[in-house]
Amino acid sequence: MRITADTHRCLGAGQCVLSDPDRFDQSEEGTVLLLRERVSGRDEESQARETVALCPSQALTLEV
Ligand code: SF4
Repeated sequence: MRITADTHRCLGAGQCVLSDPDRFDQSEEGTVLLLRERVSGRDEESQARETVALCPSQALTLEV
């Protein structure tokens, strides 16, 4: 499983960085920077699902 981030949809709200700072960062413009794409194991998957749900602009997607 992997997570993708659409920088064109991102509003720079930063919820993903607060939720999972090991996986997300923000560029100088404020848009999302994905540090780690791969999601492995149940814990990571559940955290990834939570973060995807928190994003106000639906910029994050989980793909199998
Ligand atoms: S939570 Fe969504 S809108 Fe906010 S910075 Fe992350 S990807 Fe962008």
